[in-house]
Amino acid sequence: MIQRLRMPLLAICLTAGVWGHQPSPVDVSVESILARRGDSYLRLTNMTRESQTLTFSPGPAGTATFRPTRGIVLSPGSRMDVSLGELQMSDGVQVLHVVSQVAGPEGGVTAGPQLHEVLVVDATGVAKTTYERAFLSQRMAIPGESVPLRVDIGGGYLDAQPMGRLAFASGRESAETPVERVDEVSPFELSNMRLRQLPEDGVGEGLFPVRMGVDATRLATGVQEERASVFGSIKGKFMLKLPGSVYQAAWGWKVRVWQGLGGTWYQIGSANVTGDGTWSADYLIPPIPGFQVRVEYQPANRFLQVQDANGDIYTWGDDWDVTGLVTDIGYRSADLTKTGNAPGIDKIYQGGMALWRKFNKFGMNALRDEPVQITYPNTLSTGKCKSTDAGGNTIAWSCSQSGDGKIWLISVHAVAGVVQHELAHSIHSYYWDGNMPAGGGIKHNITKCYNPGLALTEGFADFMPYWVQFDRTAVNPVETTLGLPIDTLGNAYCKGASNEAQVAATFWDVYDTVNDGASPAIDSWNFTKKYAPVSTFLKNPGHNSMLEYTSVYTTILGANWATPVTQLFLLNTMFLP
Ligand SMILES: [Zn+2]
Repeated sequence: MIQRLRMPLLAICLTAGVWGHQPSPVDVSVESILARRGDSYLRLTNMTRESQTLTFSPGPAGTATFRPTRGIVLSPGSRMDVSLGELQMSDGVQVLHVVSQVAGPEGGVTAGPQLHEVLVVDATGVAKTTYERAFLSQRMAIPGESVPLRVDIGGGYLDAQPMGRLAFASGRESAETPVERVDEVSPFELSNMRLRQLPEDGVGEGLFPVRMGVDATRLATGVQEERASVFGSIKGKFMLKLPGSVYQAAWGWKVRVWQGLGGTWYQIGSANVTGDGTWSADYLIPPIPGFQVRVEYQPANRFLQVQDANGDIYTWGDDWDVTGLVTDIGYRSADLTKTGNAPGIDKIYQGGMALWRKFNKFGMNALRDEPVQITYPNTLSTGKCKSTDAGGNTIAWSCSQSGDGKIWLISVHAVAGVVQHELAHSIHSYYWDGNMPAGGGIKHNITKCYNPGLALTEGFADFMPYWVQFDRTAVNPVETTLGLPIDTLGNAYCKGASNEAQVAATFWDVYDTVNDGASPAIDSWNFTKKYAPVSTFLKNPGHNSMLEYTSVYTTILGANWATPVTQLFLLNTMFLP
C-alpha cells in the first residue's frame, strides 16, 4: 500500500524538474583566438576517450568568413590550435559563426560544436562583445505606465500586454521596395480551434483546410471593425529586412497603437500584419487631436512571443502625427540583417510559425493556454537551461520547461530546427498535462543511449523539424540543424529504445512512404494520414518508451497490423533496451 502511494508523489516531483533540451554535441570544446591581421585560430580540446575527426566551416549567421578546415583529427584528451587563416571582415560589428561536423566511426557525420561570437572590429584590433551590448543596446527606453486594451488575438484569448518598454526604431522604406509575400491567413484565424484539438479517427486533412471562411474584417484586425471605424484608422506596411537585402512581409506580427497622455500610454487600436505586409488598425478609442500616436510592432501572437532575458517582448516602434480620418504612415521595416537590430529573431519566428501552420493544416492545435514565451538569447543570467561544456564549465543552453512550456534559446540556436524541437517539447508537455516520460531533463548527445523515457521525449522533438520541413516522400532527408540522417542512421548512433535518434527514426518510418530494411526488420507501411505520427503520440500519454507504441499503433490499426508494426520497430532497434 505504501508503495502504491509513493508512486504518484514521485511522478509529481519529476514533473516539476523535467525539461526538454536541445541535444548537446560531442564533448569537444571550441574557443576562438582572434586577430585583426594575420591568422585567427580555433583552440580545440577533445574531452572524449575516442579520437575525433572534425570539419569546421563558416555558419549562416556569420559575417566574418574564413576558409573551411577539413579532417582535423584530435586524439583522446588532446588540445590543438587550428588556423582559420586571416578572417575576412570589415570594421564595425561583426559576427563569427563557426559550425562543425564530426565524422562517425563508420562513415556518416553528426552535428558538432558551434561558436557564435559578436565582435567589434576596427583598424587595429578585434574585441569580443555580447549580443546585448552590440544589438539590444540600440533600443530606446519608453517611459510611462501603459493601459492596454483587452484584445482577442485568437480563440478568445484576451491580450493585455503592456506597451514595449524598450523599442528599436523602425526603418523607413521606399514604396518601390519589392516585398516577399507570405501566403497565409492571419494568426487570429489559425487560432480558430479548440484547445488540444486533434483529428478524430477517420477524419482526414480536408476537415480543416488552410483557408477558412472567416469575416474579412476580423482577419485583418482581430476585432470588429464596424465598432470603431467612425473614429478613423491608421495603416501602413511593415516588413522584415533580412540578410541578402531581402524584404519579407512581417506576416502575423502584432501591431498596436498607443497614445501618451499625462505620462500614461493608452492603447487605442490593434492589428496583425497581413501576408503582403499591410496592416490597418481602427481606433477603438478616438485619438486626442494634437497628440502623436505611437505604433509598435512585435514578433508576437497567440502561439508565441519572442522576448529578451527580462521578459520584454521585442518591439519596434515610432511616433506619428494623426493626419485626418485615415493616417497612412507608409512602409517601415525591422532590420533583422546579421548585424542589424536583433539578428536571429526572424529565424525563430519563421521556424515557429512554420510548425504552427503545419499543425493547423492537419487539424491539430499547437496552442497552449497562453502564448509560448521564447526567451532569446539565453545567457547564464537567466539561470535557465544551464548545462556544462566539455571542460566542465557551466554554460547556458536551450530548453523547454515542461510545467509552462516556456523556451530559452542561446544565440547559436536561432534556427528553425532548434525552435521546432523546443516547441515540440512545449506542445508535448501541454497535451500530456506536464507528465513527461521519466528520465528526461538531463544533458544528452543525440548519438548516445540514456534511458527510454528521455529518448521518447527527445526523439519526438527531433522528429518534429523533419515532419515540419520535409515531405514524407523525401529520400534520406537531413535537417540542417540536427544533421541527423533520420532514415539511414548507421553505426554512429547507439542502438535501442534508449537512443533518441532511433526513436526519431521510428516516428519517421511510420510517416514516410519510403520503405526500407529487409524482413523481418522492415519498414513496409506508413500511416495514411500525415498527422497520425504526431496526433497518436499526443493523444496517448503516460508512456515511458517508444517500444510501448507497438501496442498503441496495433490497437489503432487492428490486430492484423501487429506484424508489420513489430517489424518496423525491429528495424529501428526498439526491442533493444
Ligand atoms: Zn529536447
